[in-house]
Amino acid sequence: MSVIYDRVALIGLGLIAGSIAHAMRRGGLAKEIVGTARSSETRAIAAEINLCDRITETAAEAVAGADLVVLAVPIGAMAAVAADIAPHLAAGATVTDVGSVKQEVIAQVGPHLPDHVHFVPGHPLAGTEHSGPRSGFAELFDNRYTLLTPPEGTDPAATERLKNLWIGCGALVEEMDPDHHDLVLAVTSHTPHLIAYTMVGVADDLRRVTDSEVIKYSAAGFRDFTRIAASDPTMWRDVFLSNKDATLEILGRFTEELFALQRAIRTGDGEHLHDYFTRTRAIRRGII
Ligand code: NAD
Repeated sequence: MSVIYDRVALIGLGLIAGSIAHAMRRGGLAKEIVGTARSSETRAIAAEINLCDRITETAAEAVAGADLVVLAVPIGAMAAVAADIAPHLAAGATVTDVGSVKQEVIAQVGPHLPDHVHFVPGHPLAGTEHSGPRSGFAELFDNRYTLLTPPEGTDPAATERLKNLWIGCGALVEEMDPDHHDLVLAVTSHTPHLIAYTMVGVADDLRRVTDSEVIKYSAAGFRDFTRIAASDPTMWRDVFLSNKDATLEILGRFTEELFALQRAIRTGDGEHLHDYFTRTRAIRRGII
């Protein structure tokens, strides 16, 4: 791999930005990686582990002279960060983000950006339940999809260049419309997280009755199923607030299916349960 950008500015130094920094170094994709984060503690940790070539106190300093700027903060912070950096962006620079929701981020960030930059929103479909600057690792994006959602009229060369960066980071890259992205992610990620959070809440309620049994016997499904419920609460609050329509749509369908299963259990309709599980098992086995 060769250098794709001279100077990349990472705004927010958590799991995703940290992993991008590691992956860019692994591939030699940027001449200089500049990073910044809101809290001095995060900046200090990033400096201690040598996450970037340079850490700046402000986002304005970080983006100065950068040809790629990556917004890797929680979705609710994107608009304020965009407004903050806008006057300092270099002409011809590309601004991207890694937010888990696309329509709302585009609506929040786009209006702040000057005409002389390219805005190519993106979302790496990779993550863990960990957060913060120490949680990043170079392999996070390997063989995982990154979806780019460039608005109409975006310079194809800017999109292509960003695509090459993600490929260099190990990712498979595809373009998608932002509204379709948000619906797909509501099914594959957002609603499953909500259900996992709910299951932990139910277990916590039950703990008053069963004491430590939930922990003791958690190997039987609960542990695997709820791993994602350990994810960052700020990030997930923002995901649901900003992907409201799609998650409510999928949640409505989920509730219908759940009620149908509930009814089958109540009425002893084993055929319904068996057919349903047979169909879903076949689908699940088709997913690697
Ligand atoms: P993280 O919590 O590990 O890191 C977030 C970073 O943003 C931290 O450096 C924090 O200091 C900084 N930050 C928080 N609030 C800020 C504010 N108001 N202003 C400036 N900086 C602020 O989070 P992460 O998992 O790296 O997520 C970052 C983005 O990536 C989010 O938009 C999220 O939707 C997206 N994303 C996350 C995952 C995942 O699984 N974690 C996957 C794909 C995309």
